[in-house]
Amino acid sequence: MKNVIAKKKFGQNFLKDESVLQKIVEAMPNNNNKVVEIGPGLGDLTKFLVDVKSVEAFEVDTDLCKILQSRFEKEIATNRFRLKCGDVLEAWKSELVEESYDLVANLPYYIATNIILKALADPKCKNILVMVQLEVAEKFCADVGDREFGALSIITQSLGDTRIVVKVPPSAFEPQPKVDSAVFLIEKQSNRSDSDFELFLRAAFSQPRKTLIKNLSAHYAKDLLQKKFSELNLIQTARPHEVSTNDYHQLYKKTRSLDGRRESRN
Ligand code: SAM
Repeated sequence: MKNVIAKKKFGQNFLKDESVLQKIVEAMPNNNNKVVEIGPGLGDLTKFLVDVKSVEAFEVDTDLCKILQSRFEKEIATNRFRLKCGDVLEAWKSELVEESYDLVANLPYYIATNIILKALADPKCKNILVMVQLEVAEKFCADVGDREFGALSIITQSLGDTRIVVKVPPSAFEPQPKVDSAVFLIEKQSNRSDSDFELFLRAAFSQPRKTLIKNLSAHYAKDLLQKKFSELNLIQTARPHEVSTNDYHQLYKKTRSLDGRRESRN
């Protein structure tokens, strides 16, 4: 990392461990999709990606853009690599890219959850393979009953299959972050994200340690909720993390019939 001072405000922790870079490439879904990389940084992951796929990357740091332009001069000239210099969240205000793509990236952690949710909702995005803070990866990949099982896990499970590919210690990066990291994969099977269902989940997990009925009774009459729980064979005292994704969908459908019993969504 000669002459490059990592900028904290852009979440710059450069991945230096080649074995982790290799594992990311090995975990890439086998298809003809373009790869979108958010935050190519110094281009160490990009170098592996352009060997196997055509890549479009978004980098906010103009100093790094200059380094990337020079490092990938040949790939840019042949259109194997397209580099957009600027904030990806600004670019995403309209269509991010024109064709189907897989997102593969060591994400800037300060906006990682936001980026993953945008990619989940983007019909052009087919698969997501990203490095994030371990704690965040566990939330996306948790199963019912796990302490981390929450709205993020349910939204993700509703759209595809997830798995943690590899856990990564701080020593794999330069400079080293204060937290452990993980690479995880979401293979999307559907693109039908539902914002009303997401609001329902927000209510369901408003107080994660209270019972689910207690949380939902802020929006629906308690006796009707108890009846719907019985119809679905759900335990009345279940906590939000103890109810499966499928049961959340069933419960959501049933609560939609409770017209006039729902209060403001805000
Ligand atoms: N991919 C490189 C690697 O693995 O070594 C760098 C990863 S570093 C964790 C995150 C990268 O995202 C940095 O290069 C940073 O400048 C870039 N970045 C941060 N915020 C961004 C934004 N809003 N839009 C585009 N890139 C961003």
